[in-house]
Amino acid sequence: MKIAIDGPAASGKTTLGRRLAQALGFLFVPTGAMYRAAALAHLRGLSIQEVEITVAEDGHVFLNGEDVTAALASPELDELSSRLAVDGRVRARLVELQRRLAQDRDVVMEGRDIGTVVLPDAELKIFLWATLEERARRRQREQGGDFAQVLEAIRQRDERDSTRELAPLRPAPDAVFLDTTGKSPEEVLCLVLRLVEERRAHLSRRASA
Ligand code: C5P
Repeated sequence: MKIAIDGPAASGKTTLGRRLAQALGFLFVPTGAMYRAAALAHLRGLSIQEVEITVAEDGHVFLNGEDVTAALASPELDELSSRLAVDGRVRARLVELQRRLAQDRDVVMEGRDIGTVVLPDAELKIFLWATLEERARRRQREQGGDFAQVLEAIRQRDERDSTRELAPLRPAPDAVFLDTTGKSPEEVLCLVLRLVEERRAHLSRRASA
């Protein structure tokens, strides 16, 4: 089973994805972290063709064999990853790596274009959403900084991610829209686990019909 989670910045995709994958025993692939690792590679002067990015079972992200997980959550990489994500060569390379990771296995994959481009046949697609203010509060709790600046950075990134030409942030037509505003991570996980069960029941009914 493949589960796609898409949504805007700081909507809780990584928190939900990690917990969901753990609860189901699936591999978790945080593709946002892969774009951040590509941005780190860019800062190091590497071209995207020289870059190999992998995600281990425990969620750690490796850039050409080096564990770079701890370096990925920074305002600088928030910004640079979203700027690089408009580049067709970067996207093509990362989509190739993402599909390879998902091949022949159960995965939960989060990002912006998972349900629309990377795994269009995913059995369950979730579009995770929360108001801009709530997302800014969550990001400020994680990274600190001035609230107004954090909010503005997220607003700009949302705009760039949803208006770019290639694979813009957009719910797949068959995605379930989930507003997480005011909901705890546990509540969101419970809701999604219920959706997984419904989906599994539907798929097994269809297989036995
Ligand atoms: O989700 P996260 O904030 O870590 O993603 C960083 C940036 O990577 C996003 O702002 C977006 O521009 C880009 N991205 C993307 N497609 C994905 C995942 C992330 O374009 N599937």
